[in-house]
Amino acid sequence: MMVVRVHLGEHMPDRKQRGSDYRWKRTAKAQKAKRLPCFHCGQPIDYTLVWPDPQSFSADHLKPWVNHPELRYDPGNVVSSHLLCNQTKGSSEHYTAGLGNLSEVF
Ligand SMILES: [Zn+2]
Repeated sequence: MMVVRVHLGEHMPDRKQRGSDYRWKRTAKAQKAKRLPCFHCGQPIDYTLVWPDPQSFSADHLKPWVNHPELRYDPGNVVSSHLLCNQTKGSSEHYTAGLGNLSEVF
């Protein structure tokens, strides 16, 4: 059995790397090309809009990569969302959802 300890502060470095994370940009671009509706609200996304428009496309992680670092660039872990939906779903909810799955993994 393994006990995984998660320090929520560890997601902060992503903010610093965001501008130069080439691999993530490529993953997000591939997701954008699928032209899928928003994962969170189910509404279509206007792909002509660009950041920081709240209705623009934003690539989001299904499982938080701080808990699943191996899934960070996995296309199967990336979902499409509105920028607004991505931001308003709340980080606490995001991480709690990920922690709930740990019992199945171990
Ligand atoms: Zn949405």
